[in-house]
Amino acid sequence: MNLEQPVPLLVAGEWRLGQGERYDSLYPADGKPVASLNAASLDDVQAAIEHAQRVFESGVWSRRKPHERALVLYRVAERIRACAEHLAQLQRLDNGKPITETRALVASAAGTFQFFAAACETLEETITPSRGDYLSMSVYEPMGVVAAITPWNSPIASEAQKLAPALAAGNSIVLKPSEITPLLALELARLCEEAGVPRGVIAVLPGEGRTIGDAIVRHPLVRRVAFTGGTVAGRHIARVAADKMMSVSLELGGKSPTMVFADADLDHAVNGVLYGIFSSSGESCIAGSRLFVERSIYDDCLARLAAGAERLRIGDPADENTQMGPLITAAHRANVERYVAMGLEDGGRLRTGGARPDGAGDGFFYRPTIIEGLANDQRLCREEVFGPVLAALPFETESDLIAQANDSIYALAAGIWTRDFKRAWRVGRAVQAGTVWINTYKQFSVSTPFGGWRDSGLGREKGRLGILPYMEQKGMYWGTNEAPIPWAD
Ligand code: NAD
Repeated sequence: MNLEQPVPLLVAGEWRLGQGERYDSLYPADGKPVASLNAASLDDVQAAIEHAQRVFESGVWSRRKPHERALVLYRVAERIRACAEHLAQLQRLDNGKPITETRALVASAAGTFQFFAAACETLEETITPSRGDYLSMSVYEPMGVVAAITPWNSPIASEAQKLAPALAAGNSIVLKPSEITPLLALELARLCEEAGVPRGVIAVLPGEGRTIGDAIVRHPLVRRVAFTGGTVAGRHIARVAADKMMSVSLELGGKSPTMVFADADLDHAVNGVLYGIFSSSGESCIAGSRLFVERSIYDDCLARLAAGAERLRIGDPADENTQMGPLITAAHRANVERYVAMGLEDGGRLRTGGARPDGAGDGFFYRPTIIEGLANDQRLCREEVFGPVLAALPFETESDLIAQANDSIYALAAGIWTRDFKRAWRVGRAVQAGTVWINTYKQFSVSTPFGGWRDSGLGREKGRLGILPYMEQKGMYWGTNEAPIPWAD
């Protein structure tokens, strides 16, 4: 990708400049432009979707045999691995994450393509128990044009999570990455083409959500939207989907509880809690942003957490020792600062952080912040901050803990730290969340379905069956009776 020139989009089988407004994509670590590009226009959306539909109907991808599609997806995984360092550095510039994190996301994207290649060529259609004179079967068909809409916080991994199963299923895909982080989606589409995905199967249309994203979602030819982002946008998309009778998956926000019991291995718990909230600068849907600590160890645990937070290395994302990079934009940091001020107004006490680090320059850095003294029903404990801000609360009993942990509109993830495996099982089953980590946090495997309950989303991504939401299921009956149906005799 040549960042010296305006970056082309992939529209209707052509790499060309978007027809929308020119804008700069900034490096969050210094606020300077990394790339310049034109956003997609509404005409680009129309052209891309119509073209994607024609390519779908041509059968050039949709009618390829599963093992042939799988071979291409294996090659995509290889191409990603071959360009891993380039992709990791590009993502660092696009998003400002530390390089160690972007390398891990690139590796995960390769793993996702490999996994869905295997899922594609091993997916079985079934012969169902017949209840009459016929052979009955259940088979799967690709849907047509599907849309993938992704946020800015984990580019390439989010895109791979949608692109790989959508391609495996034989669809055409219109991908709308966040306008803030457009580069990785474009680069991934280029690698897919190099690996053998036919031109025109994928379109990449960065642009504003409320205009370009909305036009994609509403387009009559789009038969499914796989969305990752905030709950407000997700709810809007669900309403449009209801009108169109369109399938959606929604991976949305969170306010995940982490629970530390008095018998926990505190070294593990402290590290896990810090990692759970402050890695990715807290810009993570599954950030463990509400911490409940059993009263008898609360003071000790908080002292260790505050000391640990103060030792975290914030700074240059290119430095392999950096643990926390900047936040994504100046506007987002201002929003995080508003949340911290609000927590303090509501009676919270700052345990550590609450400010920009010294020497942050023009980068959008913010210190890891711990606030205590709030109740679970106050705003900082209810709303998603999406930044490095931890609200810490003591708890007295297991039942009170579970009630508080579940008292949230969100239900995406939860963490439990205890040595008592029976309690871990009890609490793990009682807590309402799409993912529960026990004595660990923020570990991911493409083989394990992921998604949220309630306002955290609808549907699941990943897992061996993660290809199925991108396919329509069809029952087929083959008559075996020698005599006609006894109707017109
Ligand atoms: P966002 O909702 O503002 O935007 C996400 C994407 O949707 C972007 O591409 C945006 O342009 C687009 N969009 C926005 N409004 C739209 C609309 N009306 N119609 C169609 N598209 C629209 O979210 P964000 O600020 O980019 O990302 C942060 C949010 O994403 C947080 O709430 C976070 O929890 C959530 N998230 C969830 C997961 C998950 O897997 N559950 C993962 C990562 C991020």
